[in-house]
Amino acid sequence: MQRVIFITTRDHANGLEQSIIVLKGIGKKLSERFAKRSLFSLNDLLFHLPIRYQDKTKVVNIAHLQVGHSALFTGELLECQVQTLRRTVLSCVINDGTGVINVRFFHFNSAQAKSLINATEQGRWLSCFADIKRGRNSLEVIHPEYHIINDDYTIPIDNSLTPVYPTTEGLSQGVLRNTIKQALNYLERAVIDDYLPFAIREELKLPSLNETLNYLHHPPPDSSAFELHSDQNHYRQRLVLEELLAHQLSMKCAYQKKKQLYSYSLSIRNHPDSYCAKFLKQLPFQLTQAQQRVIADIAEDLTVSHPMQRLVQGDVGSGKTMVAVLAALYAIENGFQVALMAPTELLAEQHYNNFQQWLEVLNLQVAWLSGQCKVKQRREALQCIADGSANMVIGTHALFQEKVVFHHLGLVIIDEQHRFGVHQRFALIQKGIKKETDKEYYPHQLSMTATPIPRTLAMTAYADLDCSVIDELPPGRTPVETVVIGEHRRNEVLERVHQACLTGRQAYWVCTLIEESELLQCQAAEETYKILQEAFPNLAIGLVHGRMKNDEKQAIMNAFKAGELLLLIATTVIEVGVDVPNASVMIIENAERLGLSQLHQLRGRVGRGSQSSACILMYSHPLSKNGKARLMILRGTNDGFIVAQKDLELRGAGELMGTRQTGLAEMKIADLMRDQHLIPKIDKLAQCLMQEYPDNIEPIINRWIGKKMEYYSL
Ligand code: ADP
Ligand code: MG
Repeated sequence: MQRVIFITTRDHANGLEQSIIVLKGIGKKLSERFAKRSLFSLNDLLFHLPIRYQDKTKVVNIAHLQVGHSALFTGELLECQVQTLRRTVLSCVINDGTGVINVRFFHFNSAQAKSLINATEQGRWLSCFADIKRGRNSLEVIHPEYHIINDDYTIPIDNSLTPVYPTTEGLSQGVLRNTIKQALNYLERAVIDDYLPFAIREELKLPSLNETLNYLHHPPPDSSAFELHSDQNHYRQRLVLEELLAHQLSMKCAYQKKKQLYSYSLSIRNHPDSYCAKFLKQLPFQLTQAQQRVIADIAEDLTVSHPMQRLVQGDVGSGKTMVAVLAALYAIENGFQVALMAPTELLAEQHYNNFQQWLEVLNLQVAWLSGQCKVKQRREALQCIADGSANMVIGTHALFQEKVVFHHLGLVIIDEQHRFGVHQRFALIQKGIKKETDKEYYPHQLSMTATPIPRTLAMTAYADLDCSVIDELPPGRTPVETVVIGEHRRNEVLERVHQACLTGRQAYWVCTLIEESELLQCQAAEETYKILQEAFPNLAIGLVHGRMKNDEKQAIMNAFKAGELLLLIATTVIEVGVDVPNASVMIIENAERLGLSQLHQLRGRVGRGSQSSACILMYSHPLSKNGKARLMILRGTNDGFIVAQKDLELRGAGELMGTRQTGLAEMKIADLMRDQHLIPKIDKLAQCLMQEYPDNIEPIINRWIGKKMEYYSL
């Protein structure tokens, strides 16, 4: 039955698409203020949900009032006077037989004072609605909504809770309530399109959308405000589910759309003469099981004539670069060029050095492109890229600049993909699109990330990608021992580092400040560098920070890698990717100021060799309880997934790296933190809708996400 209604209202005959202008009291000016909150149609109003509720459905005895809650109460006016102490106050006392409470006004006019004083003389009662506060001698309320109860006046008791809506300047609660109420009246005549099919609703025991909206805007008196926000409230739960579903569907649709594009299918041969076989043969170690599994996933993707869109997730140090080389060699073997983009100069150059060594042996050529390339160097690189003599191009953001033209780009690899925006990634992909007769061919795409977001979140944040996880570290690693130490023990730390370096170990000393100020961070690093140089004149110390020229930076990194420098003072420029296996000690200053994921990434610079490593998290005083709890998490685990999960719990989803770009952080009612347990269910639901109710998909996405989230075709 419900299904039939649902189908007949599909063409928006219910009128809810109309502009809010049709409502009483809404003119052009007011509608513009609504527009500021993205409220255009009646539908939009219906989905503008209360953030909390006021209970004016019952009168509470003064004796039962609770501090911190708002309530409706009445009482006989016992006293009323204007007092001038430090400031002028209109102060009343009322009594309902169960207790007394003070009612105070700091802003009032003389007419107001007069009427209240008169009412007191006549022994009248007052009804108030306000937040209850603890006063000096008794309970009190300040500036309540109030009415003097006359003979012909009855106390206004509502028959549902009063919604409090999120608002903006120029849009009062009164106006919002009135307008939304009018929109709700439409629901009595029309059935709102319910895109959650009846069968699914019934199975999950979820109420209809009509019921849900009426309930959430005007809950009945017996529903406590607490219940309304709890997980147990199935009206709220229904909408949360629908919103998460909308996001999941929009990601899945983007995925499907991309899967319909064309790519060149590669042939993968395991011939002993193949580049891969030759490369693996000279490698001093065996690939881990996890690496092999992920490479097999990639090989399979590459043989298909649609673009690969795979994300490789793997904790710091899990060996993602190996996966990148092999993927690159597959493409090169098939006569294609490969582009590898990394977010920092330092990391890009490290990749360049490595790949050059690996590919040189195979007689392959690697080009280098960064923002800091000299004119001549750059011209030569561009030439090799354009004429195809470069088999591989490695660089930073410089790779997708206008002048870069590829000869035959077949694979794009993006390292630390969370550091790039959607536009940037697409700009590079676009360079590989090739038109041939009637078809457009897209390059294959491989992304790598070391910032593991919790598994449940990954299910939705990366729903537009295929994911492979490297869930195993190369053998022989000893876990990094992490200690948390206060700034006051700096001298001890210095001595410890000194000792470690004297025994030939290498150490990073990371100077962090607020991330936004690179200049200050560099100054702090320079300062520390001077101090340490003076303290340990016999130690070979280097300095690297973001404001140095690229050549200088690279020279220092090379010297550190070669073991000529034992102690490296650095800013967070070394956060991603940098790989110096012999470094086994890391000190991070002001650790409390960084996010957990960032600290985990930094810490990942040590523990790469076979010797035991230590990471010292130094904090400055005073350290908040929460700050301490965060650092303790790092002390407790080396597993990036656990760190990410705890980070989510402590900071909420909005702050989590990687979710920001996907739009997941901007949800209307769902909260990824609170509602993450629903995500596996959502994934199943999304699949069900795509198979059985494909017509519902677009409207559900439009309702919750609208045109806000734009997806590129790849
Ligand atoms: P990440 O996943 O953080 O990018 P890298 O690719 O930089 O990690 O690898 C970290 C280190 O581990 C490198 O020094 C690399 O040579 C080494 N490595 C990678 N795979 C293996 C393996 N299967 N066995 C031993 N060492 C490996
Ligand atoms: Mg890496």
